[in-house]
Amino acid sequence: MVGNHEYTIQGGKSLESLIRNAAVSRHKSGVLPSENDLEHARAALPNALSTDGVGYDQTIKHIIDDLVPAFNNSSLSSNYYGFVTGGVAPAALFADNIVSTFDQNVQVHLKEHSIATDIEYNALGLLVDLLRLDRQSWHNGTFTTGATASNILGLGCGREFVLRAAAEKKGILVASVGEYGLFEVMQAAGLSGVQVLSTLPHSSLAKAAAALGIGRVNVKNVPLEGDSLQFDMRQLDTELARSDKVSIVSVSCGEVNTGRFATNGIEDMQQLRRLCDMYGAWLHVDGAFGIQCRIFDDSAEFASLKAGCEGIELADSIAGDGHKMLNVPYDCGFFLCRHGKEASNVFQNANAAYLASGATQDIQSPLNIGIENSRRFRALPVYASLLSLGRTGYQDMLQRQIRLARKIAGWLFDHTEYTVLPETSSKDELVEQTYMIVLFCAKRKNLNRELSSKINATLRMFVSGTAWQGKPACRIAIASCMVNVERDFGLVTDVLDKISAETVS
Ligand SMILES: *Cc1c(COP(=O)(O)O)cnc(C)c1O
Repeated sequence: MVGNHEYTIQGGKSLESLIRNAAVSRHKSGVLPSENDLEHARAALPNALSTDGVGYDQTIKHIIDDLVPAFNNSSLSSNYYGFVTGGVAPAALFADNIVSTFDQNVQVHLKEHSIATDIEYNALGLLVDLLRLDRQSWHNGTFTTGATASNILGLGCGREFVLRAAAEKKGILVASVGEYGLFEVMQAAGLSGVQVLSTLPHSSLAKAAAALGIGRVNVKNVPLEGDSLQFDMRQLDTELARSDKVSIVSVSCGEVNTGRFATNGIEDMQQLRRLCDMYGAWLHVDGAFGIQCRIFDDSAEFASLKAGCEGIELADSIAGDGHKMLNVPYDCGFFLCRHGKEASNVFQNANAAYLASGATQDIQSPLNIGIENSRRFRALPVYASLLSLGRTGYQDMLQRQIRLARKIAGWLFDHTEYTVLPETSSKDELVEQTYMIVLFCAKRKNLNRELSSKINATLRMFVSGTAWQGKPACRIAIASCMVNVERDFGLVTDVLDKISAETVS
């Protein structure tokens, strides 16, 4: 029998309560699903498409009973410390449900059709305010699927800009990579490649370089000896001066292993700006999660972190994440660019008359400045969360995250069984430099080899296993809006104490 597949809109609160109840029940079990729950869910997945479908009720039951128990609690628990995951702030969650229900396609600015593009543009302005950037220069950009996509936009705009400038210097006008392609412009300009110069860049930068025809090997580290995150300005100068290449400089504003910053104050950024101007290079900032430190007022407690993202207004483009520190649901990132026209030189959806909006353009159509054409209304959760929390709400959230990280770092520093990385002899300096990530290892080799798996097997908290200077290490990244400093400190120290006590070497 063919079921009734005609849908009508139904009111009532059953949908929301079903989902919330499932979340509450999931929240009561461990941070990761048990092996049993995973096994059960895998066995419950269908082997083939059913002809008539099992129907709405059966599908919901299957999802809640079979699948949800096999999810992790990445955003439902404040003790999930993997990657930089971020939680979901309440207003953002509400808005995200609105996004799905109303399913606006935010691609063309059509004023008479929907307010969606206006809201997206407004949300971008609020975000620029939160990050203390000047609207005059920075209220220009777009929402993306994440910082990876934002890095693609940044390198794409940079590639366009630096190659055009290099070609113009040789008397070739209107040399657009977007228009003529990389090969033709490169050849006309007599160049052999584009390089991206950085220090400890996030892996997504290499992905962006690969996708844009720059190439992964052309993402190069130019670190200071003894401090792999700081730029060696002399080496940078030498690379920028090469006559066969054009360059993009990318600043790691928040390095993903340590949470530290590649620059330390306005002078560093000014020096990078000067070098980029001198050699016609593009200055990009990857601030996926680090950029959030700009939201603080002047306070001694967070001064070292604020210094790490000072001066990024001197950049040409900035990549950021929404689903990390902004605590909106996946997926959401943002891209800001000081050059109003650059993104459309690359990403315009040219020659589609049916997608054209009115002649007078106050807001650019997102499909002309980003990767996608049809797009989710991912700006609404950002809008809702910024509206609901304001600056002080976000400051409070970030403060709790940093204070917990610093408390854990200090405790680990004093611990006989653990070492905080990168190693340092000063506890005060360590605490002051700690953002919301704590990188550490166990002193005993045997314990260290299995440390992350032992921690995660408790199901009480989750950490990312990583490597630091060739040895295994663990990473606690605190990014959830649900952090409670005292409660979570008690849990983390209890887990780590018990594991070191249980493991005999
Ligand atoms: C997380 C991260 C990215 C990639 O972001 P996605 O949201 O996973 O696309 C890029 N750069 C840095 C520094 C990051 O931390």
